[in-house]
Amino acid sequence: MDTKALFNLSYGVFLLSTKSGEKINACITNTAMQVANSPTRIAISSISTNYTCDLIKESGFFALTVLDTNCTFDFIKDFGYQSGRNVNKFENYEPKFDENGCPYISEYGCSLISCKVVDSIDLGTHTLFIAEVLDAKIINKTKPITYSDYQNNIKPKPQTEQKKIVGWRCVICGYEYEGETLPDDFECPICGHPKSDFEPIYEK
Ligand code: FE
Repeated sequence: MDTKALFNLSYGVFLLSTKSGEKINACITNTAMQVANSPTRIAISSISTNYTCDLIKESGFFALTVLDTNCTFDFIKDFGYQSGRNVNKFENYEPKFDENGCPYISEYGCSLISCKVVDSIDLGTHTLFIAEVLDAKIINKTKPITYSDYQNNIKPKPQTEQKKIVGWRCVICGYEYEGETLPDDFECPICGHPKSDFEPIYEK
């Protein structure tokens, strides 16, 4: 099987946020699609070890913000490259809240979709949530970004460094591979993302 064939699937880029009790959190995902009408339903797939995934399982609610061309790499880093178990990802932002109490950040998104989970399937590395759309609104008319836009225009190109590479870190889930060279067909054992989503870890 040539798994590179799957890289040609098209995706958007989204902020997936939720609230459970007093806890709020959000992460970046590229996996969301509308799957039904009347009632309108969407499906999202979340890395099962993500804190956001745990909180969605607890609360049964989430909000999906469709990220737009205002989105910066710093924003992606704040919400996608660290865990809400260790930091308050909203520290540098002033979130708004949807009718279910789920936080969102309007400066970087063009649409907000508020959802209630109606089913979930454990897929091992990921959890698939099927959700009914309770409310949706257009935040602004800025163009949404695709995952390809993110890879080509937002994510910085690797710097040429003189330091020795001792490992590779998955920027999606934080998994660390030990070794100087990451094989071309390598896929993250935790989240399944390809080599292109790994950044080098340099010798200290
Ligand atoms: Fe990963």
